[in-house]
Amino acid sequence: MGRPRNAHVVAELPGFFFPALTRLPQFLQLGDNLPDIVMWKYIIQRLELHHPFRISRGVSHFRETIRVSVEADGRTGYGEAAPNPRYGESIDGVLAALDTLNADAFQPDSLRSVLMSLPQLFPQSPSARAAVDIALHDWWAQSLDLPLYRLLGIDPARMPPTSKTIGIAAPDEMARRASESAEFACLKIKLGTDQDREMIEAIRKVTDQPLRVDANEGWLNREEAIRQIEWLAGVGVELVEQPMPAARIEDSAWLKQRSPLPLIADEAVTNPSSVSDIPEGYHGINIKLMKCGGLFAGLDLLTRARTAGLQVMIGCMVETSCGIAAAAQIAPLTDFVDLDSNLLISNDPFEGHPLIDGTIRLNNRPGLGVRLIERGVEPLR
Ligand code: MG
Repeated sequence: MGRPRNAHVVAELPGFFFPALTRLPQFLQLGDNLPDIVMWKYIIQRLELHHPFRISRGVSHFRETIRVSVEADGRTGYGEAAPNPRYGESIDGVLAALDTLNADAFQPDSLRSVLMSLPQLFPQSPSARAAVDIALHDWWAQSLDLPLYRLLGIDPARMPPTSKTIGIAAPDEMARRASESAEFACLKIKLGTDQDREMIEAIRKVTDQPLRVDANEGWLNREEAIRQIEWLAGVGVELVEQPMPAARIEDSAWLKQRSPLPLIADEAVTNPSSVSDIPEGYHGINIKLMKCGGLFAGLDLLTRARTAGLQVMIGCMVETSCGIAAAAQIAPLTDFVDLDSNLLISNDPFEGHPLIDGTIRLNNRPGLGVRLIERGVEPLR
């Protein structure tokens, strides 16, 4: 009943139909050569971190993500889910979401209809949506032999430089990591501790690079937060991300009225519908594919943010070069790029886009432009 023409499934993921892509505009059509055999796979990747990664909420020594692949017509599209507990997600939750796919999950007849159905398919797991969305985009662009950013009509020359993230550590250690990051146009410093000023002062002794600050909801008193922001404005900080808890909407509005620096919402923004509340308390938003559910939703979020007059940053969770490459496809549309988490891991299974003088330079390979090289990543659990 309603199974797409020529699309049947031989898969670890039974019943997940591949989109037949029959309703795309002529120049994007695959013609009659629709894939006969489609294979979906997913595995857990254990990513080892160069340094323990500490933010205001806690510390990680390694992170796990889930690699999703779709194989058809001799091509493999890759995606990644990096579930974050802050948003109620877990590895087991993503696996459970992927496992619910069955023959009746949906009856797609085009790529776009599949992408639009993902929120209904995995309502509780934006990162599972992101993984499937990214893999489909990768496969689709490969099948047309074009880089994905070209298909999306995005100019790679407009890529802003990326910041390099310095996690919370002893002030001397943060200064040491900052001094090793001279190639970056700016540094993103994680704060939200009782040593915030000492950290910034230590970093300022070794570099005069522009700094961005991310408090990760760590400042709980608005008077203290505004004093902190005013001080930061005087030491070369250019913006502050999520100064106070996302739920403190009134305090964020109070801060925005007084802040000399742009305030960027991160934890306060998830899916596209959450943008309407943002202008009251922030000057911009941080889009992450893992929060919003992939490229399709990310572009929607970006459009809504621009309509609301907001600045846009594109960020990431701890992800491999696969997730980073996906976000990088749309990064030239944003004002601030924070796509560096592939640099935080020591066993990246993908080779992605080169970082040249602190800017991601999108290569010309079809699809996401990544290659699986599989270094020291844990196999299936
Ligand atoms: Mg953040």
